[in-house]
Amino acid sequence: MNAPTPATVTTTPRPSTRSAPEGPLGEFDRVLAEASRNRQQQLADLPDDVTDHVVLAQRESLSEVLEDIARARQRISDGTFGTCPGCGRSIPTERLEIRPWSATCIGCARR
Ligand SMILES: [Zn+2]
Repeated sequence: MNAPTPATVTTTPRPSTRSAPEGPLGEFDRVLAEASRNRQQQLADLPDDVTDHVVLAQRESLSEVLEDIARARQRISDGTFGTCPGCGRSIPTERLEIRPWSATCIGCARR
């Protein structure tokens, strides 16, 4: 009598992503990751001319956005994403959709 062959366990390989949040936060995280990649690319594409202040200004603003994006992704991990630290209210989704790295609501940003 044949020994029963062990059933082949088909292990579904888990994608080796970091624990990306589910739902809307996960979506924002993806958008932020994409925005970060784009800007890193733009930064890399800038000419190496350190005397051109247009280039310098572009480099500076790209770096600032990259920092904002990094902070926004940190807030996603912290669970504080979408809450304005200025007034404690939630940042409107419409604002986050346009500029997902916004740290504050429009009211606090204007102050
Ligand atoms: Zn606010």
